[in-house]
Amino acid sequence: MLSTITLNDIENELIIGLAGGLGVDFDEVAETLESALKKAGYHVVTIRIAANFTPRKNDSKFAECYWKMQYGTKQRQINGNDYWAKKAIEKIFYLRPELSYNHKKIAYLVRSLKNKEELELLSNVYGRNFMSIAIFSDAELSLKYIDKKLKLGRMSIEDAEKEMHNINTELLLTADQDIRKTEEIYLDDSDIKGRISESVMLARFLMRKDQEETHQDLKRSGQNLLRCYSISNFFLYQNKNLTQQIQRFIYILFNDPFAEPTFEEYFMFCAQAAAYRSLDLDRQVGAVIVNKENELVASGFNDVSKVGGGHFAHHDHPMYNKSGVADQRDYTQPYDFNHLHLDQIAKRISEKLRLAPKDQSLLRDEISGITEFKRSTHAEMSALLDAARRGIAVRDCTIYVNTYPCHNCTKHIIAAGIRKVVFLYPYTKSKARDMYRSMIKHGPYIDEKNPNDAIIFEPFLGISPNRFMLTFANDKETRLERVAGKETGKPMQWSLDVNAIPDKLAMRQPHAYISREWVIVHNKMPDISVFYKPGFIG
Ligand SMILES: [Zn+2]
Repeated sequence: MLSTITLNDIENELIIGLAGGLGVDFDEVAETLESALKKAGYHVVTIRIAANFTPRKNDSKFAECYWKMQYGTKQRQINGNDYWAKKAIEKIFYLRPELSYNHKKIAYLVRSLKNKEELELLSNVYGRNFMSIAIFSDAELSLKYIDKKLKLGRMSIEDAEKEMHNINTELLLTADQDIRKTEEIYLDDSDIKGRISESVMLARFLMRKDQEETHQDLKRSGQNLLRCYSISNFFLYQNKNLTQQIQRFIYILFNDPFAEPTFEEYFMFCAQAAAYRSLDLDRQVGAVIVNKENELVASGFNDVSKVGGGHFAHHDHPMYNKSGVADQRDYTQPYDFNHLHLDQIAKRISEKLRLAPKDQSLLRDEISGITEFKRSTHAEMSALLDAARRGIAVRDCTIYVNTYPCHNCTKHIIAAGIRKVVFLYPYTKSKARDMYRSMIKHGPYIDEKNPNDAIIFEPFLGISPNRFMLTFANDKETRLERVAGKETGKPMQWSLDVNAIPDKLAMRQPHAYISREWVIVHNKMPDISVFYKPGFIG
């Protein structure tokens, strides 16, 4: 039963979702967040999605981890991809009445989110009261962390495969032979086999599986952190300045009037703004180039180029009915040339090899990463050409791009003399990492003076463009101190204490979303009269 009294007693609730890979030490992040939230007077409750997974008896740590992934996937297959978020919502719903007896401000830390649909559901239910944090960790340190946590030291790949086989058979996920075939590719990587220990191979395998499920049948419902990151609100790096990063996040959350965007946040917001100009039939990509003085020198987005330079734009749209060059963008064409061409290639090969229909679609999937035949100019190239048209040198500049560059753009970025790439969303089709392995150094906080022979590819850190305006717009008109309603002429005073209010990023009180929560928990519409009973809202 809904308790109207307890709802009214709650001053504020925050729901913070944590998304990160296996190599992330969630305890460290959660503890740092908790101590910062406590300073704002919040009672912190951790909701662990994995608490719903009953472990099997006598499993090794490796098997326990693999079991969680496969069990999680199986439940998503049966109950929908947002199933585990529903479980978290249910937990919050039933915890609230009791918690509210003792606490007026509650923050729920939901750990850990593994796919986009989970994030979307929490965001749809809790609106501005939900913030998601994507956590990156250093790849090498992650491998060590996994090795230690899962006690992989003495585990052989052969033993691991036996345990995987048992789990897949028990869960009846899909044809086990098939899963083994896909997963063995990662456990049998001839490039690295023999050079690294079997335990590191196993840690790498689990990390890869956690980032993006690869098996065809499991892909739809499997964990997919890469897509999950793409809609996160805040990006953290675990291995350096974690406390400062979290402190800044909390200050921003509680409306520090003098919190301003970093250069990185501002330029990524600009890149995202450029992306919105794109009418490409696939994703919208935007890029800006910034010099060493942090001045924006060029911008671009992915779309069809126009004779004379640049792209077709809104004034070329047929609705303006102007004489001149007709709009040639892809939406005016009968089909996307890349899609059509790849269909034709797959068809020709299939006919020649007399492939069965299932293999034909597999072949089409396999070649879907080829973007060679797109008519659009990619955003990175568009930004480089924007600079070239106006005679601006881009040597030693940084390019901010909302999506990890494809292998094609990467070679042009390198050739132009760009030293650093900052990207927001991952792009798994890119082969840049493999093709230019020794030329690219990945990871945040790389000493830029050091790797003269390498270009730095850095994941974006900070407030995502999707929360930029909400975060940095000053909604108080002035930032002057007010005493008894009057401006004193002095700067506004602010500190993080129990009186801090997250007004801008969150709504006060849970009334705004309690009905949505109810629908998720009970899987039906509530008797809405309960929300209009005296005392419920007022
Ligand atoms: Zn590209």
